[in-house]
Amino acid sequence: MGPLIEGKTAMSPTTHQTADTTIIGGGFFGSMIACHLAAKGQRVILLERGENLLERASHNNQARVHQGYHYPRSLITGLRSRENYTRFVAEFGDCVHRGFDKYYAIGREFSKVNAAQFELFCKRIGAPLSEAPIQVKALFDRGLIEEVFRVEEAAFDARKLTAMVWYRLEKSNILVWTKSEATRVEHSAGGIRVTANRLGRTVAIQSNQVFNCTYSDLNGILRASDLPLIPLKHELAELALVQPPPILAKLGITIMCGPFFSLMPFPSTPWHSFSHVRYTPHAGWNENTADDMSPQEARAMGEPVSRVEMMRLDALRYMPDVAAIIPKKSLFEIKTVLPVNEKDDGRPILFRRDCGLPGLHCVLGAKLDNIHDILDEIDNAGALAARHAA
Ligand SMILES: Cc1cc2nc3c(=O)[nH]c(=O)nc-3n(C[C@H](O)[C@H](O)[C@H](O)COP(=O)(O)OP(=O)(O)OC[C@H]3O[C@@H](n4cnc5c(N)ncnc54)[C@H](O)[C@@H]3O)c2cc1C
Repeated sequence: MGPLIEGKTAMSPTTHQTADTTIIGGGFFGSMIACHLAAKGQRVILLERGENLLERASHNNQARVHQGYHYPRSLITGLRSRENYTRFVAEFGDCVHRGFDKYYAIGREFSKVNAAQFELFCKRIGAPLSEAPIQVKALFDRGLIEEVFRVEEAAFDARKLTAMVWYRLEKSNILVWTKSEATRVEHSAGGIRVTANRLGRTVAIQSNQVFNCTYSDLNGILRASDLPLIPLKHELAELALVQPPPILAKLGITIMCGPFFSLMPFPSTPWHSFSHVRYTPHAGWNENTADDMSPQEARAMGEPVSRVEMMRLDALRYMPDVAAIIPKKSLFEIKTVLPVNEKDDGRPILFRRDCGLPGLHCVLGAKLDNIHDILDEIDNAGALAARHAA
């Protein structure tokens, strides 16, 4: 297969295509899995519904490179994040922004952890933590905030990540089709067939295996293919982008662990992302059966009215300088997690092989640094399959 890449190289119309692996979904996970398999010599085709790669959740998120601090109620997620942070920063260092100081504060009331528990948790996962300087503590209302810690946490630049991903895909000779929506997956002689709508034409792609990397739309392709759904929990999330006042410009702030807020650089813009546990989720629902609302249906209802003012009014109680933020725009995205993590807030990966069909694998990454766990899992599964075949 030649290096045919949509928008980069002219290609003739085609209604049939073959590959070793078809990847559905050109977010960070689909793109990185495509590169990983191509590096092992596979011919890979990547289908993305949108006009560009990494335009959905891989862009519309808080851009936090997790190092575990965020998950004091899930030791496993904390530990995995710690390990993956190092790997992520090493591999995607050019896309990682560290030009700010990051602080985690602990609320006195309504918090699910106290300062001592948070400190102990960080110690257990080996995450660096120190006391915040006095001038930073002074930014908080100490009647509402028990303690403030300095931590090491970075943010990624999703635009730089997109450019890096394109570069890798091009170098790997992967066939990338944007504006191409997979509409059905089915068994076919000698493998698995994906039907896709590509620029108004129907295309059939024959391959040995298919990775469904569509994140919130994971069940969309399963529904359309009459396959059992994976129980998922969705949340329509608002991430506000705001101009911080100068005193907060070089700071990232997260208050744990309850109905609080986060304000931290969003490196692909000059702004900070601003989110609030109470106001960021506009709606939440489970998708267990075909009768439940799909993310596509939710999107079709349009964007809700912004709640950035509610976020601001609550956050300034804890940190009075938040009063001076200037809202710029809001990103709305559907956040998807496994229902099992509703209580502990953990963010494990989902990697389900032969998901309703032999050769159809479903992947849910939950946060970007999980990519390393997914790629390890794919390699382990490949090695296991090879052992069984031998
Ligand atoms: C509000 C919010 C905040 C978050 N904060 C963080 C954070 O701070 N740090 C972090 O690491 N993670 C965070 N996450 C999680 C992170 O964004 C996701 O884990 C990650 O982006 C998932 O990547 P993905 O490639 O699986 O999904 P996506 O980037 O959504 O990619 C899926 C792609 O599939 C395409 N697609 C869907 N259906 C089809 C189809 N039928 N055919 C073809 N293409 C299709 C979509 O267009 C999309 O481009 C956050 C998520 C949200 C929503």
